[in-house]
Amino acid sequence: MKNLLGGKGANLAEMCRLGIRVPSGFTISTEACTVFTQRGKDEVRKLIEAEVLAGVAFVEAEMGKKFGDASDPLLLSVRSGSRASMPGMMDTILNLGLNDEAVVGLALKANNERFAWDSYRRFVQMYGDVVMGLKPSSKEEHDPFEVIIDMVKEQKGVQLDTELDTEDLKELVKRFKGLIRARVGREFPSDPWEQLWGAIMAVFESWNNDRAKLYRELNDIPETWGTAVNVQAMVFGNLGDHSGTGVAFTRDAGTGEDLFNGEFLINAQGEDVVAGIRTPQQVSLEGSRRWARLALVSEEERRAKYPSLEELMPEIYKQLLHAETTLENHYKDMQDIEFTIQEDKLWMLQTRSGKRTGAAMVRIAMEMLQQGIIDEKTALLRVNPDRLNDLLHPIFDKTALEKARPIAHGLPASPGAATGQVVFFADEAEEWVKKGKDVILVRQETSPEDLRGMSVAKGILTARGGMTSHAAVVARGMGKCCISGAGAVHVDLKGRTMTVGETVYEEGEWISLDGSTGQVYEGQIPTMEAQLSGDFGALMAMADRYKRLAIRANADTPEDAVAARNFGAVGIGLCRTEHMFFEGDRIVAVREMILADDEAGRRKALAKLLPIQRGDFEGLFRAMDGLPVTIRLLDPPLHEFVPHEEAAQRAMAKDMGVSLGKIRMRVEDLHEFNPMMGHRGCRLGITYREITEMQARAILEAALNVEATGVRAKVEIMIPLVGTVREFNAQAAVIRQAAAAVFAERGTEIPYMIGTMIETPRAALIADSIGAQAEFFSFGTNDLTQMTMGFSRDDAGKFLPDYLKLGIYEKDPFQSFDQKGVGLLVKMAVEKGRSVRPNIKLGICGEHGGDPASVEFFHRAGLDYVSCSPFRIPIARLAAAQAAISG
Ligand code: ADP
Ligand code: MG
Ligand code: MG
Repeated sequence: MKNLLGGKGANLAEMCRLGIRVPSGFTISTEACTVFTQRGKDEVRKLIEAEVLAGVAFVEAEMGKKFGDASDPLLLSVRSGSRASMPGMMDTILNLGLNDEAVVGLALKANNERFAWDSYRRFVQMYGDVVMGLKPSSKEEHDPFEVIIDMVKEQKGVQLDTELDTEDLKELVKRFKGLIRARVGREFPSDPWEQLWGAIMAVFESWNNDRAKLYRELNDIPETWGTAVNVQAMVFGNLGDHSGTGVAFTRDAGTGEDLFNGEFLINAQGEDVVAGIRTPQQVSLEGSRRWARLALVSEEERRAKYPSLEELMPEIYKQLLHAETTLENHYKDMQDIEFTIQEDKLWMLQTRSGKRTGAAMVRIAMEMLQQGIIDEKTALLRVNPDRLNDLLHPIFDKTALEKARPIAHGLPASPGAATGQVVFFADEAEEWVKKGKDVILVRQETSPEDLRGMSVAKGILTARGGMTSHAAVVARGMGKCCISGAGAVHVDLKGRTMTVGETVYEEGEWISLDGSTGQVYEGQIPTMEAQLSGDFGALMAMADRYKRLAIRANADTPEDAVAARNFGAVGIGLCRTEHMFFEGDRIVAVREMILADDEAGRRKALAKLLPIQRGDFEGLFRAMDGLPVTIRLLDPPLHEFVPHEEAAQRAMAKDMGVSLGKIRMRVEDLHEFNPMMGHRGCRLGITYREITEMQARAILEAALNVEATGVRAKVEIMIPLVGTVREFNAQAAVIRQAAAAVFAERGTEIPYMIGTMIETPRAALIADSIGAQAEFFSFGTNDLTQMTMGFSRDDAGKFLPDYLKLGIYEKDPFQSFDQKGVGLLVKMAVEKGRSVRPNIKLGICGEHGGDPASVEFFHRAGLDYVSCSPFRIPIARLAAAQAAISG
């Protein structure tokens, strides 16, 4: 149903079914949007005209009012709503059907002239913006309608919209229409039907506005889905002090706490609450008290100026509680609801699964499980694995935080710790980040236009807006640190400064945000690792019970290995031995080896490296005690180890006691036109067998050494970049000889396995012949992707962004494994490998091992394990469980 009616439409219908009071209306399906996009306005109108007429007639009958009637007009809202929720991305128009005559009728009927004109000015404003396209002409310009409102307020000497009287509102309508006439060159349409069709088409059109497109891009929503259009009778929150409008969450979207919470405004309509125009009040008393503490508002002031709905309208609050419980129990998930109160009568306008932080995802899933609302599988599926990252994000170093200077305080809209340089514009945030800077986006309030800037900023700070403001909701959805409503912060867009009290902060100055407390600090504050909650551990333990894939880590040092075990790795899937070469003075010995003239010279240098490597491997084996450790022999082209600048070459020459000329010549020798496809991988070990010999020896000696101390070492030696069976056999022979020598010297043996990377397409094609020799395969999906696609990851930056934009590739194949292409090679190699060696161990060790969609594929392909960087292990564990549950 969602596919046709969109999320909003389907849920409105569902709420009706549940007996929740919803204004009468009808939904135009997403198919119509597709017709609009493909065949245009006129075609779609022809197609849906009769049904729209019938729909309006239905609403008229329900409401006992006529659309277009001058004395008692039916007013409509026209609302977008796609399959996936895209909060605020597309457009909505309220109070449609008003014109100069109807406004008089409405005023008389409601016996409230101010209300009628308030509705009218809102309508002209929204319609002028959304349908007639009157937007700010530059980023420094404010919304032109708001500029006029501010002017009128200033003339009158008032601050709040609610302080404007009927005459002011009439004046606004007049000026708005004048503005539209002047800027758009057309009259504001007075015919309600013309208004309705304009609005419907504008909603279709908004499916393809820039911010909606960007949102789809960021959230993987296909363009083909289209949006539905909901046409609904208006209910009015702006009818006076017994009316209002609000937004609420059935649980805390930031922390996941099971606490009904939300915000509302009296005598307000539509987006007033989220737009941050007035300070919203809290729905519950508990929430209100908490808010007051954070906002530094005294209890007296709170009660007088910002009472909760629970205090102000206890009966309505009770109904709201009832509705939120009904909805949460029905959808079995945390709901984000929108409501309006019209003269002491509660109406529900929307419900959807609420956006939440990663921490809230985990907590809500685990608590709903404990509360018996959902089962284990559902709880596991409720957490987006990628969002576990939020929980692993660093927090501020406690001691540094105590010393830091707090400068302002706002609402803890989205937790996290962020340090960055202040920027005031979203597009500039992007530019700065492109240059490698960390930025904090500071705005009066954010709007959907700021999405891209928000997504690249370390954190977001707004001067206005509450916990349900645009900034807050979007930041939580992105798992981004955000503080909203920091009232003491004054933003001057033209001067590009932010003033707090007496202090002026220029663009580019450093500030820090603590999204968990709402505290803003001056300067940079160092961060430390996050503490994981009990819910997180419980979720992980549960994931392990459902998953089939084992999760290993790519770890090159004992420290990495320890971190990996703490995250739950059950082995090392890839140790890149060359990463050890760069540390300390090792590189000197490595370079000596590379620059040696002959085998004897190389062996001399390798003899220096042997004890160092052995020590490294001992550390790894100790850290993994009994868990398998896959060690890959030297892989990268040798030129990566030598210096390319003259100064460094000079220093090296001096170090090694040779001439600069000699160094330069050797470096030139090493130059390759395409190093990725050059002298690397097992090709190195084949031309310089002594390198493989040394590495095999270091690995096995290390294993024997730790075993002698009672630690178990499970050795897996891996040969990189194999493309022929003979390559594999040649290297395996060198390893076996080295092993035999070591075992003879020591008078003792240890089992070890020899396997290979499958990372050249040829290796995948002949995986049966290779499998007859190799005891395990590990798919090196980075190289396999590069070589199958025919472009290198390092050069793809020049065209891949365009390819993604044009839809030539749906996703970056280096981030999300190319299942349709490269995946066939993997499947084939799995089959061929097993056909000759049924118990062959199969794993993957590319970056893809930590990408949920890729993990799902590797599960289906029947691998035994995936290996990824330590920080992605929890993500892989959960993704593997989800794959097992859904598969
Ligand atoms: P979004 O998709 O951005 O959430 P909505 O379609 O929900 O947009 O509309 C935004 C707001 O407009 C709603 O939260 C509600 O306050 C108001 N609104 C929409 N339809 C009606 C209606 N029929 N009566 C009163 N207010 C409405
Ligand atoms: Mg809404
Ligand atoms: Mg590789």
